[in-house]
Amino acid sequence: MDNRGILIVVSGFSGAGKGTLMKELLRRHPDTYALSISATTRSPREGEVDGREYFFISTEEFEKMIAKDGLIEYARYVENYYGTPRGYVEEKLGQGKDVILEIEIQGALKVKKAFPDTLLLFVTPPSASELKSRLVGRGTETMDVIRSRMDRACEEAQGMENYDYLIVNDDLDTCVEEMHSIIRAEHRKISRNAEFMEKIKEDLISLKGED
Ligand code: ADP
Ligand code: 5GP
Repeated sequence: MDNRGILIVVSGFSGAGKGTLMKELLRRHPDTYALSISATTRSPREGEVDGREYFFISTEEFEKMIAKDGLIEYARYVENYYGTPRGYVEEKLGQGKDVILEIEIQGALKVKKAFPDTLLLFVTPPSASELKSRLVGRGTETMDVIRSRMDRACEEAQGMENYDYLIVNDDLDTCVEEMHSIIRAEHRKISRNAEFMEKIKEDLISLKGED
């Protein structure tokens, strides 16, 4: 099998449950996946740790990273910058890990353009009202911020068609297993196994006529 890992982008409305899903997927399959840690200029939420959820940096530091091409992609989202540091992603893909970027849609499309064999997954709750309940229930944002995130969800919904698979996060356990199965199947795509196929073709020719 070809050894490089798959680059996977996970997007979805804020409050859809992406963070919760990623945490559970990594807990169940720690050797398979690596989760990229983004840099952001937004302030940490209660309980978030620098270098774990995000690298929390200043706008000036962020702009320096852009200037030295240290980010695979970046975007502005509700007044802040968010971006994917290049080094970690390249290192982990080289080690054969499937690397997950949990990023919003503008960034997802940039990654797909730069790396066309990226797998794009879109996470949604089962309904719009459930999205609002989860955002309110999480209790980490003011009603004003929740409103702007719901507005942003309306815009992001227009871009769902650009993704490869829709992941409906209703029951968490089912959803985690479904996501893992989709990624397993992606590894078996003909287009991802060129090296293996070449090798077996050559070996079949060498064996022809031998007893
Ligand atoms: P995101 O990372 O997409 O913004 P979170 O992972 O923070 O979303 O989840 C938003 C809220 O919804 C959290 O309070 C989380 O505990 C809850 N949540 C996540 N998945 C589910 C689920 N399958 N069923 C019910 N609540 C969920
Ligand atoms: P939050 O503030 O809720 O942690 O994240 C807000 C949005 O930014 C989410 O949609 C999240 O997926 C996205 N995001 C997080 N990191 C990155 C990144 O590195 N690049 C891009 N383009 N979006 C990101």
